[in-house]
Amino acid sequence: MNAIVFDHVSKHYGDVLAVDDLSLAIEPGNTVALLGPNGAGKSTSINLLLGLLTPTQGTITLLGNTPAQAVKAGQLGAMLQDGALIPELSVKELIDLVRRLYPRPLDLDEILALADLSDLAARRANKLSGGQTQRVRFALAIAGAPRILLLDEPTAAMDVESRLRFWASMHDYAAGGRTVLFATHYLEEADEHSDRVIVIAKGKLAADGTAAEIKAGVGGQSVSFAIGDQPAAGLDLLPGVTAVEVLAGTATLHTSDVDATLAGLYRGTTLDVRGLQLSGADLESAFLALTRES
Ligand code: ADP
Ligand code: MG
Repeated sequence: MNAIVFDHVSKHYGDVLAVDDLSLAIEPGNTVALLGPNGAGKSTSINLLLGLLTPTQGTITLLGNTPAQAVKAGQLGAMLQDGALIPELSVKELIDLVRRLYPRPLDLDEILALADLSDLAARRANKLSGGQTQRVRFALAIAGAPRILLLDEPTAAMDVESRLRFWASMHDYAAGGRTVLFATHYLEEADEHSDRVIVIAKGKLAADGTAAEIKAGVGGQSVSFAIGDQPAAGLDLLPGVTAVEVLAGTATLHTSDVDATLAGLYRGTTLDVRGLQLSGADLESAFLALTRES
């Protein structure tokens, strides 16, 4: 059974079409990035999953349940983009209060350890830094031991150190076979912290795959070298090559498979290859290309 299914889901806010006929399925145990620029429909999708919004069209299923059933069964945990803590309570009191709302919560000490908060347990919630506040919000999201964890731009307003600690916590939680869906507009986060990247733009699915597949799908990788006066004939026949340019003594081979092209270049030709340079389509250019097209 899939952890998360969107079946032809659309969501209108009046005239605004925030989610446009989105269909996707996520298997249990995966950590998936929902990547898209601001306004792409990430938060709307997460709020639909939580049953905080209702689709205008289509259906959403979580572990075979409707969002309302999944919430009731304690299967979902979430960190939303906004949401304040109760300032009068200590970190420990707040987490304990929330964990008691769930049928089968994690132990308090386990939550504190997973969220990297053991040293801050006695601290009042209004005396926390931005990064520490986000860790408490993460703790509240995992308190009920949810099988599906939804994180909406969880590292916004965190410094580099806090981000590293945050992602380590997320990976520890996911390691128990849980499903994590996190929204981000940071390409590196999607690349580094997910098994799969779902790119959305203007509410539509723009790409879906591993970060490597998405980069390759845009096909922007190239191999270039100093060819000098040597003949360029046949370079277009090397494996993976989609186009060849020769300009001022430099040959540039555009390729969908750098490894195969290089192997062909060295083994299949007698060219003297000097000054070899590889330029990859990074996720950034792939992302820009994808979100521009749609
Ligand atoms: P993201 O989280 O990817 O930045 P959102 O899901 O917040 O995107 O927004 C998607 C689109 O829906 C945007 O065009 C946004 O302006 C619009 N939108 C979001 N919330 C509302 C709302 N409550 N009323 C009207 N339009 C909204
Ligand atoms: Mg958002």
